[in-house]
Amino acid sequence: MRKAQRVDLHSHSTASDGVLTPPELVKRAAQNRVALFALTDHDTVAGLTEAREAARQLGVLFVAGVEISVSFAGETIHLVGLGIDETDPVLTAGLEQVRRGRTERARKMAEALEACGFAGVWEGALRFVRHPDLISRAHFARYLVHAGHFPSMHAVFTHYLAKGKPGYVDHHWATLGEAVSWIHAAGGVAVVAHPGRYRLNEREWGALLTEFVDLGGEAIEVVTSAHDHNATTHWAQICRRYGLAASQGSDFHAPDESPWDLGAMGYPLPDDLVPVWQRWQ
Ligand code: AMP
Ligand code: MN
Ligand code: MN
Ligand code: MN
Repeated sequence: MRKAQRVDLHSHSTASDGVLTPPELVKRAAQNRVALFALTDHDTVAGLTEAREAARQLGVLFVAGVEISVSFAGETIHLVGLGIDETDPVLTAGLEQVRRGRTERARKMAEALEACGFAGVWEGALRFVRHPDLISRAHFARYLVHAGHFPSMHAVFTHYLAKGKPGYVDHHWATLGEAVSWIHAAGGVAVVAHPGRYRLNEREWGALLTEFVDLGGEAIEVVTSAHDHNATTHWAQICRRYGLAASQGSDFHAPDESPWDLGAMGYPLPDDLVPVWQRWQ
């Protein structure tokens, strides 16, 4: 990969909570001159076949990915798996297990939001869902913005959907060990997604990273739309300290929602870090 070529290893399609179909997403990536691209939908690989075919047609190098929801120290952590064989039976069964709780959780979220005075929440959110076994908080937020209750998705999260807010429903996802083992069973590499987003204290971070390294986890996301410049510098330093490779990605969901467009990283990856994508160049 020449330096000028763009790399985006974190994105979402209609298979989870993005608004573009996998082919639309890959087309946008190609238009944005992305040379190496990964689709990483939440807890599902349903979009990968279509995305891979679109990437082949458009000459974009494609990396099959997934973003797995994990519970750690009472927080929800996201692990991205890159370079996976999405037909692997261990990964397939693991993702099925993680998805199973989502529908029931979504029903409870709808009830909680209706109890707060919002009407038609279940049907409303479902209008934004393309794969019915993958309902995300983002679909609820999109509906509440669309219905005119909030100016932005972020406002919905701040007041209703973030942990501790009235529309939040606690859920137990995969363990860190399970998620890493599923990714490895499928031949992929495990990446801690947007580490700057989690509310963990220093001791919990130490425990997470030590366990991740012990499990053979490979990388953390350093460049992501969830990090400002200071966070980028901080997580680069953590990469060095733990001997981990570095990843980068926009975490793009929708043209009018996402802070970074596909391939448009806000900061460069520090030169001395080992890019996790070296192996696919
Ligand atoms: P879930 O996996 O159902 O818990 O939903 C998590 C998703 O909600 C994330 O992947 C984002 O797409 C979205 N999300 C979380 N926090 C925010 C926020 N503050 N603003 C906008 N979207 C958010
Ligand atoms: Mn999402
Ligand atoms: Mn995430
Ligand atoms: Mn994501």
